[in-house]
Order: sequence, then structure tokens, then C-alpha cells
Amino acid sequence: MENLNTSIQYVKGVGPKRAKKLKRLNIKTVEDMLYYFPRTYEDRRKLNSIKECRNGEKVNLKVIVSGSPVIYRPRRGLSITKVPVKDETGLAFLVWFNQEYMAKNFKIGEILRVNGKVKIAYNEIQIQNPVFDKNDRKGEKVGKIIPIYPLTEKLSNNEMIKIANNVLKNYIDKVEDCLPDVIRKNFNLISVNDALKNIHFPKDRKCYIKARQRLVFEELLILQLGLLMIKENYSNNKNGIKFNKVDEIKKFINTLPFELTNAQKRVFKEIEQDMESDKPMNRLVQGDVGSGKTIIAVLSMLKAVMSGYQAVMMAPTEILATQHYESIKEFLNNYNIEIELLVGSVPDKRKKEILKKIKEGKIDIVVGTHALIQDTVEFDKLGLAITDEQHRFGVRQRAKLTQKGLNPDVLVMTATPIPRTLALILYGDLDISIIDELPPGRKKVETYAVNSKMKKRVYDFVKKQIKEGRQAYIVCPLVEESDSLDIKSATELYEELSNEYFTDLRLALLHGKMNAKDKDEIMAKFKNHEIDILISTTVIEVGVNVPNANIIVIENAERFGLAQLHQLRGRVGRGKYQSYCILINDSNSKVARERMKIMERTNNGFVISEKDLEIRGPGEFFGTRQHGIPDLKIGNIFRDMDMLKQAQKLALKILEEDRHLQSEKYKKIKNKIINLFKDKIKDISFN
Ligand code: ADP
Ligand code: MG
Repeated sequence: MENLNTSIQYVKGVGPKRAKKLKRLNIKTVEDMLYYFPRTYEDRRKLNSIKECRNGEKVNLKVIVSGSPVIYRPRRGLSITKVPVKDETGLAFLVWFNQEYMAKNFKIGEILRVNGKVKIAYNEIQIQNPVFDKNDRKGEKVGKIIPIYPLTEKLSNNEMIKIANNVLKNYIDKVEDCLPDVIRKNFNLISVNDALKNIHFPKDRKCYIKARQRLVFEELLILQLGLLMIKENYSNNKNGIKFNKVDEIKKFINTLPFELTNAQKRVFKEIEQDMESDKPMNRLVQGDVGSGKTIIAVLSMLKAVMSGYQAVMMAPTEILATQHYESIKEFLNNYNIEIELLVGSVPDKRKKEILKKIKEGKIDIVVGTHALIQDTVEFDKLGLAITDEQHRFGVRQRAKLTQKGLNPDVLVMTATPIPRTLALILYGDLDISIIDELPPGRKKVETYAVNSKMKKRVYDFVKKQIKEGRQAYIVCPLVEESDSLDIKSATELYEELSNEYFTDLRLALLHGKMNAKDKDEIMAKFKNHEIDILISTTVIEVGVNVPNANIIVIENAERFGLAQLHQLRGRVGRGKYQSYCILINDSNSKVARERMKIMERTNNGFVISEKDLEIRGPGEFFGTRQHGIPDLKIGNIFRDMDMLKQAQKLALKILEEDRHLQSEKYKKIKNKIINLFKDKIKDISFN
């Protein structure tokens, strides 16, 4: 019995050789081909006349063969086949190179529909390497909308069209709709069969839109349902740790040098409730830069340790891990709590000692980088796993850390504020807490975009601030794709600034490739105010906290995305001083100008992330793949926001009615969900 799982090899016109190439496009079965959507379309419906032909343009002509084909052989290895054709407006030639057999294809008087690129040469209108339909056949290549497939592997678009055509012809009736009729009716969606036919070969724009709508809706619904079910799976797990109510926490909070903001209080209460329940916590804490996430982590870890468990906190860079380690130690220095730092650069001997102590339960809190998720790291009794700046970690890394304990509670911290709709997708498996308030007294970071002619004035201003006792960051242009170029530009800038502008000030250079000890030393010196200006690549982007630094100059600011600029700016404005962010850029591009304007106008991370989304689209912004979200084949979580909202609403409603999608009508959609997530997240079982 032939079904959608039939190997693509057995489809008419494929065979083993093409099947191999298709496999590299991830097309192995008939179904894969049905869901391999065109990248774009070429509208070949409108016919042009020969008179309209302009050099370099693509045209569709209806012509009559007006003479015998001629073959020229101007030199060895080259043959030119020319077929004269005409319409009411003029004469032209169809031209092929090294395809002499083409000559046999045409008879005088035959009518053709032709599509190809115009080349005007020697006063002739040529259509080079055209595709054509003979008029007595139904138009396949000309006279309709043609799908353009994403291609590699030496498969031509024409081959793909043929294969798609054959697959549709022979298998479309075997496709069963995974959406129950009521849903289709309620959301005015066409059948999957019509949608697939029209996404490959749309009759017109309206048909295409209907087809796309249907397929996008299905895709977003499946994605959202899957994520919600994963979350449900967690929260149904009753094997989590029940942490104690710890009275000491209140006392500890009272000893802090500041009062928690209401947002911090609320968020910590949410965490406490999670921690005290028997479900494993799986919570995301979102808070703009400087909103005070670290103390929330400290409170949670204190609670875990006081309940007799170990806690671990993972940060994306050594600088940040070190800084966390130091501030946690300082916060908790009145307690008899063992805290250790585990990063790549810890010498092996020392590392072994630490690992042993972690395993024996002699260390209560471990702070570190990726080094923490290595297999050699074993805990005695891990109760709480925190990742900071999660947008740098993938779902899998998070999972790896979690697996070091037995259903530990999980806390994820991020400074990337995300609109709710998207958070439901990107963090669909997490509960969300938002710190939507900054500590009191924070002044807006004054932000100015200037061009490089103003550099001298900018540096004078930096000097003035330093004379008043402040410190500054200067961030160097980021050179995509090459660490070594980044470092070169940073080094050059450092030399230039030390020798020219800031000869009497204390400068230091910081970049990602320096060894950890040097980095730490420089950061420590900067913190202790033994350095006035830190010249750096984006390694300072996340989390670094030096309240006395009140000015950040970003060179070539146009090379950074908005979210990144906002992160960088977040390095200042952390203390009581009025702070400044100067964006140097010479770009005239509209996007760059827009970004600079937004930065000048607002300090609000939510506004900025929405704008960034608008400008760049979500893929780049979040690196959705990194989040472990399956790739979307056709939908776009930003452009299709309206549909996403509808799909989210529906997903919630469906799960309310049938938590595990056990009823018959959801069987097919459930299969699709399992299929979609099977490679992505291994440890998930759908009951
Ligand atoms: P982020 O959310 O960017 O990680 P941090 O946790 O580093 O922010 O906090 C930024 C600074 O604000 C730190 O110096 C921290 O001690 C301080 N801070 C945190 N909470 C408060 C508060 N409620 N009042 C005053 N200062 C606070
Ligand atoms: Mg932080």
C-alpha cells in the first residue's frame, strides 16, 4: 500500500540518483516533499511582446517558430543553437549553448510559450536558455505562477517542479487533515489537501494566501501545543523537591544595603511558592538590565542551601561568572556557606579538588560557566540550578545542567525582555516572572548618537568625567565572524587612545581571547578604580557591574543590533551618577539611523526589543534555533503575529478540554507534535 511514508525514490521521475540529492535537502519521503515549500514564486502569467523586450529582463512570450533552427560552431567546444521566432510585434531568437539536440525540438509554424532572460546582442533580441511550453500542451512552465524551491545539490528548479507535480498528483488524496473540522470551520481554513496543492502551484494570489494561512496556522498551533504540553509535563511531575520555609531569608533581606523593589519582592514570592511545592520549579525571570536579578538568585540559593541542598549558577562568560561568584560571596559572607567558582581556566589540580568536594557535598553553591555541564561535574544533592542570561544558552545546555540533580528546581534569568506572545513561544515551557521596575534613584542613561567627526569632543567629555572621579568603557567595533580581527581592532584602538587622547590616564584592554587570569585581573582593577578607561570588545556586554563607571562610548555602533546596544548601555547607569552612552557611527543606512534614534529616545528594554523585532525579525534576534524551538517551515512568529495569537488561544483551549490530547479527534495533531519535537527534546514523554 502506497502511503506518505513512501520513499521519494519511487516517485515517478525521481529514481536513486535524484533521491540521493533530495535526501540532502532532507526530503526522504513523499510527505517530506509535500511539505517542502517554495521559497518564492515567479508570476509567468502575464505575456509580453517581443517589442517590449529589454536587455536583462525576464519575459514571457507567445511566439511562432518562423524559420529553421540553425547551429553555429564559432570555436571548439562551443556550439550555439538558434531558433528564429516572431510575434505580431517583432522577431527574436531562442538561443541555447552546447545543446544541439534542441534544434530537433521545433517545427516551423509551431506555437510556443517561452520564458527566459532577454539578451540584446548584435542587434538581435535573444532569449537565452529559455524554458518553453508547446502550445498544444497545457502550460507547465509558462503562463502560470511558478514555484521557486530552495535548492542546492545540483537539482534544477524544473526538476523540483516535476517531482512536486508528480507527488501531488499521486499522493495528495492520501493526506489526512490533522485539524478537526470544527477548528477549520471556526478559523475559516481550507483543507490541507487544497492548501498543499496551492502552496506548490497557486492559481492566483488569493489561493496562495489561503493556502499559506492554513499551513501557517497548523504549524503555529502544533508548535504552541507541543510547548505547552512540555510545560504541563513538568508541572505534572510531583517528584520535585519541597524546600523549607526559611525564616532566615527575611532577616537576611533586612540586612541588605537596599530595600527590594516591589517587583523583586513579588518575583521572589513566586519563586518561593514554586520552591516549596512538590512540582519542580521551571521559571524564567525576565528583568531589564540593572533591575536586580542577581539578588533574586542569591535569595533562591540561600533558600536551597538552608533546606539542605546544593545550588549551582551558570553564566555565559568567565567574567560574569567571576563577578557573580564575588558578589554572592559578599552577600552571604555572614553565613557558613561554602561557595566555589568553577570555570575553564581553573588549574586542573584545583579543579579536581573542587569536583571532589562538590560530589561529597562539601560545597553548597557552585558558580561557573559551561565548565559546569561537563560530565565530570557531579553533585551530592543538587536542588537548584540557575542559568543567568539565558539567551546565551540553549535548551539542551539548560537540560544538561538540570540533569545533574534529581528533579532540581530550575531558574532561568534573562535580560532580554520579550513581548508576551513571543515569550509563550520562545519560553513556552517555562513559567514567567517579570521584574518590571528598576531600583529607585536610577537616572536615565543620556544617550547620544554622533558621527566620528565628533570623536575628539567625545573623548574630551570622557576626560572630564574621569577628572571628576568616574570611569569609562570604550567598546570597539565588532568585526563579524572573526575573533582575531576583533582583537586587532581593539588593540589598535587601545594603542591609539593611549598614545594620543588619554596619555595621562590609566587605560586597559580587555578582549575574549585573553587568558582568564589576565581578564580577571583587569576586571578586578577596573572595579577597584585602578583603571580609568576600559577598552573592550563585546565581552563586557553581559552583566558586568561597576557602578562608578558612568560613560560608555560605542564605536561603529551601527554594527550592533538594538538588543546588543541596550545590553552594552546597561553597563552604565548602575550607580548614583548621571550616566552617558555615546554611539559613534557614520552609517547612512536607514536601519542604522532608526536604531540610533530608538536608543536616544528610550531606555526601556521592552520597547527596544519590540523595535528590534520589527527591524530584524525574530530569527536573528533570538536565535530561535538556540532556544531549541523547532524551525518553522512556513510561519514566521513575528510576521504572523495575529495568527500566532489565535493559535495560542486555541492551544490553551484545546488543552483545557483535553490535557493529553487523548480524544480521537486530536490523534493526528498529537502525532504531528510528537514528530516535531522528537529530535529536539529527548527527555519528554507525552502520556
Ligand atoms: P541585573 O538585573 O542587570 O543582573 P544586578 O543584579 O547586577 O542587575 O543589579 C544591578 C545593581 O543594582 C547591583 O549593584 C545591585 O546590587 C543593585 N540592586 C539590586 N537590587 C536593588 C534594589 N532593590 N535597590 C537598590 N539597588 C539594587
Ligand atoms: Mg545580571
